[in-house]
Amino acid sequence: MPLSSTLGALFERNARLYPRRSAVSYNGREYTHADIAARMHRLASALRSSLPNQARVSILSQNSIEYIETMGAAYLSGSILVTLNWRLAVDELSRILADCEPAVLLFEEQYIETVDRLRAARPGMRLICVGEAPEWAEAYEDVLTSESTGFPATAVSPDDTACLIYTSGTTGVPKGVMLSHRGLLAGALANCINTNAKTIDRVLITMPLFHVGATIMYLGYSVVGARTVLHRRFDAVQSLAAIRDEKITQIHTAPTMIHQLLSVDGSETYDTSSLTNIVYSSSPMLDDLLRRGVGRFGPIFTQIYGMTEYVGATCLQPYQHVLDSEGAGRLASAGQPSQDTFVRIVDAEGNDCETGDIGEIAVSGTSMMQGYWGAASAKSILRNGWLHTGDLGYIDDESFVFIVDRKKDMIVSGGENIYSREVESAILTHPDVAEVSVIGVPDQRWGEAVKAFVVRRSGAEVSADEIIAFCKSKIASYKKPRSVEFVDALPQLPSGKVDKKMLRQPFWEGQKRQI
Ligand code: ATP
Ligand code: MG
Repeated sequence: MPLSSTLGALFERNARLYPRRSAVSYNGREYTHADIAARMHRLASALRSSLPNQARVSILSQNSIEYIETMGAAYLSGSILVTLNWRLAVDELSRILADCEPAVLLFEEQYIETVDRLRAARPGMRLICVGEAPEWAEAYEDVLTSESTGFPATAVSPDDTACLIYTSGTTGVPKGVMLSHRGLLAGALANCINTNAKTIDRVLITMPLFHVGATIMYLGYSVVGARTVLHRRFDAVQSLAAIRDEKITQIHTAPTMIHQLLSVDGSETYDTSSLTNIVYSSSPMLDDLLRRGVGRFGPIFTQIYGMTEYVGATCLQPYQHVLDSEGAGRLASAGQPSQDTFVRIVDAEGNDCETGDIGEIAVSGTSMMQGYWGAASAKSILRNGWLHTGDLGYIDDESFVFIVDRKKDMIVSGGENIYSREVESAILTHPDVAEVSVIGVPDQRWGEAVKAFVVRRSGAEVSADEIIAFCKSKIASYKKPRSVEFVDALPQLPSGKVDKKMLRQPFWEGQKRQI
């Protein structure tokens, strides 16, 4: 696929090259590349007849075949696809709709009540329901089979915006990231190389398509026409069963999903020998979890570091996972810059840091976002063509990137910088600890104090004092937690990331953090 192409052309190419091969398996049915492209065209045509170029088409749905069709139809018709996170509350969704002003909202039947509450704010919005439609919406299948004209009215350009994806909102209000056809195609091609994708691959996608991670994985595997087994959402038991029954070769995960796959009762009894690649992204994977994963599934892990604003910035391939402690120590790395991506580490003034020194990770290349939509300004993070990621890290002498923390998660205590991830890694090596999250809380004397939230392994009784003493043997004393709170579970964002904002909130009520 040339970068001068568009995402719609990708699906058309697959329909020409692999018409009878299965493109997607969903809900027990196979959809060939030709079937999918034909339905995408019909929907594109129906949408196009009523929409100006670059109109926003939003979708509120769990993963489904209709989701894939809508993606393709939006790309083909020159619309901008807005993928909505179905876990958001009505008020949050309504803020996003007010921001991007969609002309169309496609939704699944199960969200009728939510959409009923949203629609009053946008009276002209075309409403299309997948499933049994209420009287105020059109039925998806009717739209798809309607006679329509007007397609293709305008040629789609590689620099048109293809989609608007809102960030996870881990550090603040979600921001609408504008991604062009060219940017997404570049990310898809890089992913194809990073995952060594092949036409004969059978890929399991369970992560939500409303996030950039699953979208770009799906597009990456589509570049070679691989077969995707699509699940509505992640379920560890169903995933293991699908790997066994469908002989899945590649799966896209987040670290928390690896943890869940390992925790299923009888996990080791599922035959997963068909797997050749387990891709993980979204958040750091702690060493201990990765070692357990490798022990169970083999040395077949690929880490991808990226963000909505820049898809697939770096990648660590299986052969680069050096697991022995005497090796190059690259297990903790996020990998080397992906194809057509450049990475620098910069100080507060934007100057390059020395090799090995910690600074902010800045990235540049073809997969760069076009900017934030609407009110959010990208000025502070997009400077001279470089995206300042808000992640802190360093680069070694062979361009391996190591992420140490998010800038906003770094704790400044008594004038010292403490990286929450380093403390978390230390605590997680305690045999009684299942999960941990570390934050900074206000402290009269130190400015901020380190606090750890710990989920104990079942039946374990380790105390707060024992964990603090354990940390002293692993990391410098000033980094150890001043307090430890035991919880049953850590709050999670739909992306699978720990919601540190929620953990911090009760401690910082009415006070402003400096970072
Ligand atoms: P928001 O920008 O709204 O605060 P977010 O940054 O979590 O939310 P995303 O764009 O979904 O939204 O996530 C990108 C971030 O996820 C990266 O900036 C980085 O902090 C983290 N991340 C992604 N992949 C990895 C990885 N492999 N290792 C460590 N961190 C990762
Ligand atoms: Mg971010």
